[in-house]
Parts: sequence; structure tokens; C-alpha cells
Amino acid sequence: MLKTAAYAAASAQSPLAPHSIERREPGPNEVLIDILYCGVCHSDIHQARDEWGGSIFPMVPGHEIVGRIAQVGAQVGKFQVGDAVGVGCFVDSCRECPQCRDGLQQYCDQGMTGTYNSRERAGGAPTFGGYSTRITVDQDYVLRIPASIPLDRAAPLLCAGITTYSPLKHYGVKAGDRVAVVGLGGLGHMAVKLAAAMGANVTVLSTSESKRDAALALGAQDFAATRDPAVFKTLARSFDFIIDSVSGEHDYNAYLSLLKVDGTMVLLGIPETPAPVAAGLLISKRRRLAGSMIGGIAETQEMLDFCAEHGIASDIELIDIAGINEAYERMIKGDVRYRFVIDIASLERAA
Ligand code: NAP
Ligand code: ZN
Ligand code: ZN
Repeated sequence: MLKTAAYAAASAQSPLAPHSIERREPGPNEVLIDILYCGVCHSDIHQARDEWGGSIFPMVPGHEIVGRIAQVGAQVGKFQVGDAVGVGCFVDSCRECPQCRDGLQQYCDQGMTGTYNSRERAGGAPTFGGYSTRITVDQDYVLRIPASIPLDRAAPLLCAGITTYSPLKHYGVKAGDRVAVVGLGGLGHMAVKLAAAMGANVTVLSTSESKRDAALALGAQDFAATRDPAVFKTLARSFDFIIDSVSGEHDYNAYLSLLKVDGTMVLLGIPETPAPVAAGLLISKRRRLAGSMIGGIAETQEMLDFCAEHGIASDIELIDIAGINEAYERMIKGDVRYRFVIDIASLERAA
């Protein structure tokens, strides 16, 4: 076993603090990755604070992992030592169910094995994420980072990027479509960049008036501050597609009223408590309310290649691991531009 420096939450009430974990030596189909950067997703906060229930402690969060291959198992053909690679939200799945066979591992019938806060399929040991200096992963669950994307700005693509790319593709968003992005955080800013690159006409709907200029710079054509209720009248029945990336409680109905006939609103954010939906709002305009979870391995690689082709990377604030608890507090206040990424070298220094 390989003793590995990490940062962990000891309980739902504890701040993250230095911790030590064991990584296994890579098996025949596995690679050992030296982690360089790890993005900070709002799901890390939800889980470290047990807002969804069932969290496993101690927890080492982090599922936006970028690093370099340090060691390869005997059967590994896809990667070589030194390759720049990524690991996203899952590290295994059953590989046999219809979804796994179809490249939709995130919807595995037996449940995907989360990169952290989950259990290994063999043996049931808890999994630990990317707030750590290295990780051992099966080669089939590892992504290749295109050379043109800076590695620190690539990390958030492994969750925020694929989570927004997948529904845009699945629902066939195309040039000229009017798309609204609700919530301009990590997911939201990627949704703006990706939808704009697909040719959509993007409007950002944000609670933070201060994000207006940034939204336009990211590629949005329009911006509306949703604290002003008049916005919901002005923009009624305006959009073909709405991406809702809001992490906290909010009124879905207000946003549904902004969809045109046959429009679709996809929920990506997972607030702590369920919220009511008015059936009449859906029925009266044949609107659809949908959900979507990350994306499969092949689609994640497609998204990374799309980003390389279109010169897209995440806008980040690079932090030392010691700043992680403050970063969580700032994200909860919506004060993030637009993804915190941990420089894992700072964790080695702290160890
Ligand atoms: P984030 O960076 O913290 O951004 C969330 C944004 O939502 C905030 O910046 C804020 O934007 C807005 N917001 C927050 N609370 C709000 C409230 N009560 N009412 C209205 N707007 C509010 O979070 P993230 O990492 O993008 O994640 C967003 C959500 O998606 C989280 O719930 C996360 O767990 C979930 N998620 C889902 C998937 C999936 O597969 N479906 C994958 C990753 C994450 P403004 O300042 O612009 O209003
Ligand atoms: Zn995430
Ligand atoms: Zn499966």
C-alpha cells in the first residue's frame, strides 16, 4: 500500500483537515496517478456536510482530478508514464448492464462507484477522492487531457464540463436556440461557454447582479438579475432550453414559466430539500422538466476534445489546500469566479 497525504472531513460538522490514506499498488489494468490539480465542486460541500444523507466519514472529497501517470499495470495499453490524464465522478461500474454497455456508466443499474464517498465493488472499502496526492484507477475510467488545455483549467471539465455538455447534446441544442443558464457558478459558467460554442443564444439568470459583465464575457448574449421579479414577466415564454445549475432551494415554477411551448428545463443542481412543481405550468405549454447526471466515459472524452477544438477551459481561482474551508464558505455565498481548483503541490508541502 502507498501512504498518501490527503485532506478529509472527519464528520459532517468538521472542517477539512490534514489526513493520511492508503492507495493500492496498481493492479494489471490500473494506473497510479500523481494528482496535480483538483477542482472543488458544490457536490463536495453537499457530501462533506452530509446534506444528501448517507455520507461515509472520514471523507476525502474531490472528483475533478487532473494529474500525470506515475505507474502502469502490466496489462495497461491505453496510457504511459507521464501522460496527462483526468478522473471524474466515478472510478468503476458493473460494466454489464444495458447502460454500462451503452457508455452510460453514470446510470449503471448497480450504481456507479463514486470517486469518493462510495465503496469499492470488491471488498467494500470506502473510496477517497482528489484532495490527495495520488490515486489508483482502472484505465477504463481514466480520461486523456488534450495537450492544448492548461492542466489546472482542465480539472473542472471532469465534472462541471461534462455535466453541462451532456444535456446540451442529449437534447440537441443547436445554433440559434435560446438557452437560459440559471446560476453562474462552476457548472453555470461551463454551460455558458459550451452552449455558446454550439451556437446557441445564451442568457444568464443570476441572483448576483455583479456577475453581469462576466456573463457577457463568457459568451452570453444577455443577462438578467433574478432578484427583480419583473424579469419573470419580461422573459416569459422566451427559452427553448433552460439549464438549472442552482445548488440551493429555489422556485422551479418561476423558471418553468420562461420556457416556450415544447421547451425543456434540465435540473442539474441538487438542493437539500425537494421542491413543489406546478403541473399546470408543464401541461399548458407541453413543457418538459428533466434531470441529468454527469456523463459517461466516452462522452467525457468527447467533451474534452470539443473543449480543445473550441479553445474552452474553465475560469478558475487556484488555491492552496489550506484555503479549502474558506473556499466552501465563499461558494455557499455564490462568491466563486468560477471554479476553485486546488494546487495539490500545496498538499505535499503541508504533509
Ligand atoms: P456553485 O459553483 O456553488 O454554483 C451554484 C450557483 O447557484 C451559485 O454561484 C449561484 O449563482 C446560484 N445559487 C446558489 N444558491 C442559490 C439559491 N438559493 N437561489 C438561486 N441561485 C442560487 O455550484 P456548482 O458546483 O456549479 O454545482 C451546482 C449544483 O449542481 C450543486 O447542487 C451540485 O451538487 C450539483 N451538481 C450536479 C451534477 C449532476 O451530475 N447533475 C454534477 C455536479 C454538480 P448566482 O450567483 O449566479 O445566482
Ligand atoms: Zn461535481
Ligand atoms: Zn452497469
